[in-house]
Amino acid sequence: MNQQANCHSEFDPNSLSVDAALESIQSRITAIQGSESISISEAVGRVLAEPILSPMQIPAFTNSAMDGYAFRGSDLRKNSPTQLQIVGKVFAGHVFEGEVQAGECVRIMTGAKLPDHCDSVVMQEHVTLENNQIKIDDSHQSGQNVRYAGEEIEINSPVLNSGHCLTAADVGLCASLGIASVDVKPKVRVAFFSTGDELKSLGEPLSTGEIYDSNRYTLSALLLSPAISAINLGIIPDDKQAIETAFENAINQADLIITSGGVSVGEADFVKQTLDKLGEVGFWKISMKPGRPLAFGQLKNSFFFGLPGNPVSAMVTFLHFVKPAIAKLTGRTQTESQFLQVTTVSTLKKRPGRVDYQRGILFVNETGETVVKTTGQQGSHMLTSMSLANCFIVLPLESGNIEVGERVKVEPFCHLFS
Ligand code: AMP
Ligand code: MG
Repeated sequence: MNQQANCHSEFDPNSLSVDAALESIQSRITAIQGSESISISEAVGRVLAEPILSPMQIPAFTNSAMDGYAFRGSDLRKNSPTQLQIVGKVFAGHVFEGEVQAGECVRIMTGAKLPDHCDSVVMQEHVTLENNQIKIDDSHQSGQNVRYAGEEIEINSPVLNSGHCLTAADVGLCASLGIASVDVKPKVRVAFFSTGDELKSLGEPLSTGEIYDSNRYTLSALLLSPAISAINLGIIPDDKQAIETAFENAINQADLIITSGGVSVGEADFVKQTLDKLGEVGFWKISMKPGRPLAFGQLKNSFFFGLPGNPVSAMVTFLHFVKPAIAKLTGRTQTESQFLQVTTVSTLKKRPGRVDYQRGILFVNETGETVVKTTGQQGSHMLTSMSLANCFIVLPLESGNIEVGERVKVEPFCHLFS
């Protein structure tokens, strides 16, 4: 790694590190109070307000793990085959009412309750069937192919913790325990709007100098979550009164307000006047690229993030600051990001002084190794770099240019966007 703190470096003594900014944000945010009871059919992606204890054991009864024959393990002979008489059959959902004596077996299907006195099952593929008798060789063991009552979950044992975000598997798990509804945290109400005289909504004609507002669409996509109630407040022009009205409107209906644009040098003072009137907001220069300007604070009872206007900067700051903040508001625990260390097959241009979140593509090369390459042009206005990427290549503050073959830290999108 080339550490060149020269005239091209981007060190700024007035800037805040990514970690310090994140810590400052997270230390001010607390989970929204309260809970609501909802059906498990609507619970995926919601955050548990109470732990779930198992009201029953799983399996509820000892049953067969295979389609085959249930028998008494004590009947197995050593060093010679065992022969057993078939005395009945039992399907899943039914009970074998008879008594299984020594030397007898019952045809059984996967999930069917094991007949009394039976403790073992032999797979149907492992028997020789002749005259209503089965013959099994001496390779089998007592207790095989059986799922024991309570072996997975004991009654009253903790199954899911408070603060856990429910997955599809968790919903199924609740159903298997007979749990029809769960207590979850309230949805976080997130209001967002774009600022800028140059912005137009989709469907409107563009005049010279105007662009389509992409950030509001990106944000609304990023906020699609069962734990979030998103409130889209449109585009607000760079006009003092319009901005003030928009903030007051947002404060009345949201736990969190996100804006994009208007926080970089030059524009900051304008938005700042409004924000100073309504609350306490810090305008930060964060030593990261993209995403240097970021505003964060509190407006009455709502938290506020002012994201930079450049579309990639808005995404990078959303993912690294807003997303963890929303997670904390929802009461969610366990939100660690996951990183990989891989080799880069591209040279990566970098000036010391800021942490870079370059856009990369993780792929498996011809020799089977997972490596990363750049998406190409890295301008903070170029959304194609995000669209092509499946990861951020995170280059540390001090780092200069990176050569092919060096190991780099990578943050896969599959974790970051989940
Ligand atoms: P600003 O942070 O307002 O100075 O904006 C920085 C750059 O981002 C400018 O080129 C803006 O035109 C652009 N920009 C601001 N908001 C948006 C938006 N909602 N969608 C797309 N580009 C934007
Ligand atoms: Mg602007």
